[in-house]
Amino acid sequence: MNILILGGGGREHALAWAVLQNPKCGKLIVAPGNAGIAQIAECAQLDIEDGGTVAEFAESQSIDLVIIGPEAPLAAGVADRLREAGLLVFGPSQAAARLEASKAFTKEICAAVGAPTAGYGHFTKAEAARAHVRQTGAPIVIKADGLAAGKGVIIAETVAEAEAAIDDMFGGAFGGAGAEVVIEEFMTGEEASFFVLVDGETVLPIGTAQDHKRVGDGDTGPNTGGMGAYSPAPVLSDAVAQRALDEIVKPTMAEMARRGMPYQGVLYAGLMIKDDAPRLVEYNVRFGDPECQVLMMRLGGQVLDLIVACAEGRLEEAGVTWAEDHALTVVLAARGYPGTYAKGTEIRGLESLPEDSFQQMFHAGTVMREGHMLANGGRVLNATARGATLAEAQDRAYALADALDWPEGFCRRDIGWRAL
Ligand code: ATP
Repeated sequence: MNILILGGGGREHALAWAVLQNPKCGKLIVAPGNAGIAQIAECAQLDIEDGGTVAEFAESQSIDLVIIGPEAPLAAGVADRLREAGLLVFGPSQAAARLEASKAFTKEICAAVGAPTAGYGHFTKAEAARAHVRQTGAPIVIKADGLAAGKGVIIAETVAEAEAAIDDMFGGAFGGAGAEVVIEEFMTGEEASFFVLVDGETVLPIGTAQDHKRVGDGDTGPNTGGMGAYSPAPVLSDAVAQRALDEIVKPTMAEMARRGMPYQGVLYAGLMIKDDAPRLVEYNVRFGDPECQVLMMRLGGQVLDLIVACAEGRLEEAGVTWAEDHALTVVLAARGYPGTYAKGTEIRGLESLPEDSFQQMFHAGTVMREGHMLANGGRVLNATARGATLAEAQDRAYALADALDWPEGFCRRDIGWRAL
C-alpha cells in the first residue's frame, strides 16, 4: 500500500519509521518531511493545509492511505477534502477536529455528557470575563478559545493577572484565537496523556505517556513544545485508564457521533489525575510531539495495521500486542530555545549512532546542506529508546544523545524523573 504522511517533525519521523517496518507499506512519501525523514522516505514540498493540492498530489502518486500528523491541516478540513476524493484517510473531519480547535466546543460537549473536567465560563466580551474572575478569585486559568500553538493558556495566580490576560486576549494578542475566551477552574493533580484510536464508534487504547513541558531540569523555566516524554505513564494505571475511558472518552465519542460528526483518528486526552480520579484538561486530535515518538517505539510496525483498521472502520476486530516495555525520548534543542536561538549550526556524529529497533534518533528541525546536517529549528532531534525497564530506556536514550557532537545544542538531563 502506498502511503502519504503529512507533517515534518519528530512525530512524523517516528510515524514513518514505524510504518516502514510493516511489510504492507509500499511507497512512502512524507510532505514536507525533514532531513532525517529524507533518509528513509521520499519527501515532497506541498502546501499541506490545502486539501485540493494534497488530493491532487495523492492521486498523481497512486497513494492509498494518507496519515495526517499535525492539527493545522485537520482544522483546515484537509481530511474531508481527501475523503471526498475517495482516499483512505487517518485523521478527523474538520467538524470533529473542533475538539482541539475550539476549547469552548469541548467544554460544552463535556458538560452535555457529564464528563469530569474543570468548571468553566465562556465569554465573548472582556467586561463579563473580568466580572467572572473578580467573583471566582484566583488561581484561575484563562484560555484563548482557538488554536494558539500551546501559548494561549495563562495560569493566573492573582485576579489582577487574570484581568490582564483577559485584556490581552480580547486585545488581539492571540489573533482570532482570542476572540472568545474560556475561563476555567484551576485543577491540581498529576498530568498524563492517554491515546486512543477511534473509528467513529469503537475506541481502542494504544498507550499512555507523560511529557515534560518546562525547559529546565526539575520542571523549571519557561514552557516549551515538550522537552521529552516516556511511556507508559505509571499514574495512568489500568484502573485510572478504564475510568478515563468510561467517564470521559467513550461518552464524548458517543456524543460526537450522535451530533452527526463521528470522530475518526487518534484522540489524545490530556488528563489531570488526583486520588485516582481523572479529569479532562484538553483533547488533541492528533498524536503529541514528542509523545508519538515513544508510542511508535513501543508499537513498531503494527501501528500501520491499527491505522488502516481505524481508517476503514474496523477497529472492533483490531487489538494491540504489547511488549511489557518502556520507552523514553529526550529532545535535543538549540541553545536559547524556547527564546531566541541560532539556526544553521552543524550537527556531527549522526552517521555513526548505534541505531536499531531499541534506539533511534528521530529528527524534528534539521536540514541537509552541501552534505552537512544543520539545525533548522528550536527542537531539533529526539533521542528515543526502549528497554525492559524505564531506567534502561533512559540510559539508552541519553547514550544516544551524548554520542552526538553538537555543542550548540542542549537537553534536559532528568527526563523520566517522575516515574523513576
Ligand atoms: P498545549 O498545546 O501546550 O497542550 P493548549 O493550548 O492546547 O496547550 P491546554 O492543554 O488546555 O492548552 O493547557 C495547557 C496546559 O495548561 C496544560 O497542559 C496544563 O498544564 C495547564 N492547564 C490547562 N488547564 C488547566 C486547568 N484547568 N487547571 C490546571 N492546569 C491547567
